[in-house]
Amino acid sequence: MRTNQPQTIYLSDYQAPAYFVDQVDLRFELFEDGARVHSKLALRRNPEASVGAPLELNGDSLTLESLTLDGEALPASRYQNEGDKLVVPGVPAKFELAVVTWIEPQKNTRLEGLYKSSGMFCTQCEAEGFRCITYYPDRPDVMARFRTRVEADKSAYPILLSNGNPVEQGDLDDGRHFVTWEDPFPKPAYLFALVAGDLLEKKDTFTTCSGRNIDLRMYVEPRNSEKCDYAMDALKRSMRWDEEVYGREYDLDIFMIVAVDDFNMGAMENKGLNIFNSSCVLASQDTATDAAFQRIEAIVAHEYFHNWSGNRVTCRDWFQLSLKEGFTVFRDSQFSADMGSPTVKRIEDVTLLRTAQFAEDAGPMAHPIRPASYMEITNFYTLTIYEKGAEVVRMLHNLLGSEMFRKGSDLYFERHDGQAVTTDDFVRAMEDASGRDLNQFRLWYEQAGTPIVTVVDDYDESDGIYRLTIKQSIPDTPGQTHKKPQHIPFAMGLLNRAGEPLPLNLSAEEQNGPQDRVLELTESEHCVEFHGLSERPVPSLLRDFSAPVRVQYSWTREQLLFLMSHDPDGFNRWDAGQRLAVDVIQSLLGAPDDAPIEPRLVDAYRQLLNNVSLDQALVAKMLLLPSEAYLVELSEQADVPAIHAARERVLKHLAHALRDELLTCYQRNLDHGDYRLSPEAIARRSLRNIALAWLLHIDDEQALALASEQVENADNMTDRLGALRAMVNSRFETQRNQALTAFYQRFSDDPQVVELWFSVQASSDRAGQLPQIQQLLQHPAFDWKNPNKVRSVVGAFAGQNLSAFHSPDGTGYQFLAEQVCRLDDSNPQIAARLVSPLTRWKKFAPHHREQMKAALERIRDKDELSRDVYEVVHKSLAD
Ligand SMILES: [Zn+2]
Repeated sequence: MRTNQPQTIYLSDYQAPAYFVDQVDLRFELFEDGARVHSKLALRRNPEASVGAPLELNGDSLTLESLTLDGEALPASRYQNEGDKLVVPGVPAKFELAVVTWIEPQKNTRLEGLYKSSGMFCTQCEAEGFRCITYYPDRPDVMARFRTRVEADKSAYPILLSNGNPVEQGDLDDGRHFVTWEDPFPKPAYLFALVAGDLLEKKDTFTTCSGRNIDLRMYVEPRNSEKCDYAMDALKRSMRWDEEVYGREYDLDIFMIVAVDDFNMGAMENKGLNIFNSSCVLASQDTATDAAFQRIEAIVAHEYFHNWSGNRVTCRDWFQLSLKEGFTVFRDSQFSADMGSPTVKRIEDVTLLRTAQFAEDAGPMAHPIRPASYMEITNFYTLTIYEKGAEVVRMLHNLLGSEMFRKGSDLYFERHDGQAVTTDDFVRAMEDASGRDLNQFRLWYEQAGTPIVTVVDDYDESDGIYRLTIKQSIPDTPGQTHKKPQHIPFAMGLLNRAGEPLPLNLSAEEQNGPQDRVLELTESEHCVEFHGLSERPVPSLLRDFSAPVRVQYSWTREQLLFLMSHDPDGFNRWDAGQRLAVDVIQSLLGAPDDAPIEPRLVDAYRQLLNNVSLDQALVAKMLLLPSEAYLVELSEQADVPAIHAARERVLKHLAHALRDELLTCYQRNLDHGDYRLSPEAIARRSLRNIALAWLLHIDDEQALALASEQVENADNMTDRLGALRAMVNSRFETQRNQALTAFYQRFSDDPQVVELWFSVQASSDRAGQLPQIQQLLQHPAFDWKNPNKVRSVVGAFAGQNLSAFHSPDGTGYQFLAEQVCRLDDSNPQIAARLVSPLTRWKKFAPHHREQMKAALERIRDKDELSRDVYEVVHKSLAD
């Protein structure tokens, strides 16, 4: 549907459905030119609805072939077909409606509803894709039992899948066959799924805690046969973990995962039949990086965990999206922390949050984790809903403690099993189980924006008291001003001069207080006193990032250096290093080329490189300088070339000064045995690739030889790609081009590796200037219809290659505007996501700002703009 003035939908307008669906019987006839969908709905009027209430069904891009009510064909005069809505007045309290529609999955480039991807039929129904399949009350609070029969040509589509358990199959005339699936659990239509194709089946089993045997199945294209083991294993680990940590057992007899190349999202938790973007599930040592393996483990877990947090208990309406996403992201991050290093996982989550979610929270699309309105729901699959939503659940966990939190989640699942509920129901279950008053805490769901927590300290030598004055404020966001203080769990500790933790005594009487405390901030200002201190302590604030807030405190460089090497909280150790590096880089912005660089920074990094007793995974994280995107986020009026230049200066300075240590680090971390995915082995690869990257940044000949050897002979993709990336970012143009060509030739038949190859170039300021990006778009492996390819070139350029994208002549912005307009016609959901780097134009220095705005206006003026892009562009340009 396209319109010039999309409607805004408000949470306050919510009304329960007038009719419920008890049972859905579907029959799909799949053909090469389209599909016929026969749907039979057993409907029942909501006792709360008025007797004359008309039946309203959603529909999108459908051809209606027939409509029958209780066996009687309805003439066109008995209903109104309003394009996106089918309205049938005068229906009885209980009836059966049969609908036949014709759809064309082959022409579906939006990838919503039923579509074809590399020869197979597949679906994506969240949020509102089911209405592209048949007329239906397509809203999550209508939960029904589904029985689905799929019919297709047997040789072209030997595998026919849908939700639930298979109950019947057989052959039909003309070489066709069918399979019928029955899902005993009522579900909203967004969890419906169908797959038909010529796929290879990988089998495994899992025995649940109560002793039931579950068939596990993965379906992939035959060429991907060797890339399934890791995901299958991750699935079994997830199933076990959810039993042990949340007491949740799987409920159907079969659990299936299908890999699809063309997919708008990462993966989808359809009941019993999860559909994955190939890049989020397929992996082998030769083709996937360590980061990809970790992402796959997290996403497989995430989708599996949805079976309870999302499917058994679902959302009442789409304003409640964070009910399932925030909770499930929190669950998958707990799982990843348990599988690897909790500190490193926390650093990764917070890096994403602080770089991208904080930016969203401060921009024109800022919204609470439970928004009050939207135009297009697919625009609200945001970092705020997911990542900040998870942080809010994490805070509940911090406030209640694990035991009470588990009592709360048990109560939530028990109380609401089979229901469509709200975020408030979730908080109420936590409240009822723990006996805590969470009224003020609920503001996290209503108020947008990142709270700022300002800390001022004062030490009184005469009475040994250390005082903290802690203030909180929340910036204004579109449509919200004068916000109320929120309930913030603020974890902290104090260290003495020797780096030892001190007891936190809150009164003169208290003697041996704990060395860690979670202060609960509820007022706009608190004053906290710590007693019995014989020297001025160094504060360690917001340990483990206990709340999604910005902390402002005037750290001295001495304090940061001290915390970097002494804080017992691993997260804060890392954070102190980041703050120090940010401070040094910011002090060089606009400074003359010969302005001195803080000498203690080199010492600190030297210590890190030589430190073999500290967790090496943490060391690897600590060695990474803050990204340009994070530095932009921290700026008032970002001047991208200046940020780029200052960061480059620091990086090169460190690399020159630490050349010998970097070479030693590289050699020390070489692997000689078999490839392993243990945290230690991952840390080793990470360290040696960082060393290589730094050394090639200063065009070191010896490092070039090491990288050339590694890119050619590595036995895994992490090392191969690490070396390639380092070479691409060097000045050795001939060797870089040779390596890129050889890499492509080696992997040209593997679309996922080709995506890596695209993005390594598109995200590099050396290899990814605009003319080179234009060339990548002409490359035979590039495909506009494949969202992964678009993301790996256009997305990587605009999102990661900041200095090229923000080039002073504005050509990067105009380029992005062109690509958005081009994609808007075929895949508006992806087009709307791509606009994002332009939306924060007000944040940039004047020379960027005007040209970014002009690019947005160019998109705004396109004919027939989709609702998706319309919403993002208009909100970005609003005052
Ligand atoms: Zn999810």
